[in-house]
Amino acid sequence: MNYQIGPNDIEIWQSCPVCSTERHVPITEVYIDDLNFFTTGYCTNCFFVFRTVRPAFSWFQQNWIKRKNIADKNDYSLASPLEQRRYKRYKNLSAVFEKISEKRTILDIGTGPGTGLRAFKDSNWDVTEYEPDPARAEIAIQQHGIRMLKKLEESSETYDFVTIIQVLEHIHQPYDFLNNIIPLVKTGGYIYIEVPDLVNFVNWRDALYLEHMNNFTVNTLTLLCSRFNLALRYRLFPKTTPYGATHIGALFEKVEHNPDMDTSLDDISKDICNSYVKGLPISSPVFPIKYRISEINNIAITTNDNYPVVDKKNRFINMRQSKNIIEKLKFINLKLKSTDNSINFVRKRLALHFHYISLDILKDPDFEDLKFIKINKKDYTNERV
Ligand SMILES: [Zn+2]
Repeated sequence: MNYQIGPNDIEIWQSCPVCSTERHVPITEVYIDDLNFFTTGYCTNCFFVFRTVRPAFSWFQQNWIKRKNIADKNDYSLASPLEQRRYKRYKNLSAVFEKISEKRTILDIGTGPGTGLRAFKDSNWDVTEYEPDPARAEIAIQQHGIRMLKKLEESSETYDFVTIIQVLEHIHQPYDFLNNIIPLVKTGGYIYIEVPDLVNFVNWRDALYLEHMNNFTVNTLTLLCSRFNLALRYRLFPKTTPYGATHIGALFEKVEHNPDMDTSLDDISKDICNSYVKGLPISSPVFPIKYRISEINNIAITTNDNYPVVDKKNRFINMRQSKNIIEKLKFINLKLKSTDNSINFVRKRLALHFHYISLDILKDPDFEDLKFIKINKKDYTNERV
């Protein structure tokens, strides 16, 4: 499918969603013809990475409907391996929360078909879900009997725990989004946020990854949350697949007053720029790196034309389909080097050719454990893992 985009579909974002300053530098720019519709930049004050030029939310809404018309083939029943894994992850999470607090009401924001909350419910939690996608919300209600919140702003209830798991990175305006949610957390209660870790997650392909609006580090996430009287109390180390990268898990307590924050963050601009060339088969690119694609044929990753080739004038990196066997081999190699799920990728390739090998040898033996640490109140901003 070709998702059309024009100048009126694009918004330019000036102020940093974390610290509100308007000084940011572009790292990458993506074009269709001469239209720059997607730019990734970082704030020179707090080093938050966000999309400074991007399709407006309304554009996504229209195109999600288009995409939805191609039937959703996912199996959301508890019998599917993906949902079983999700169930296990939430079960681990509930066990961690139970070690931290005796309180038992939870609101989960945006976890689709409800498998995760089912795990909490099975551990005797009082569970509520908020899910904007009506099709997925229906599954949660029908299959798991989960109570659904219709609108965030209309709720007068407050909760001991609110969880936002792999949602915040997709949100156009994370400050406004959190601003709507924080009143739902009891004072002395907790909010748990899980996002991909900039350091572990980002490689050159992120420049083209259309569905992520923000890339957090522990520091930028903590800084954003400190604006809402949220103090970081625990770090959790969740794994999204048995093979893949570690994400940031952060448990914040809602306190009476703004937690003291040391806002003099380390300059990580070099690390950020290095992340955006990680795996790119082109030497010494000039920043901002300019990509050109022929069309948006995938709403999540922009384009399936996957191979980057520098144009003759050296101004753009053109993304186009691999044309010959050498490029295809190079491309496989590129994926191996650059994707965060590279082990998963190897596993799939092996499975195609060697049906008799037990692939469990590639599994992370610690996958079942959800590690967590308590943060020292005084120096949590310096916490780096
Ligand atoms: Zn900033």
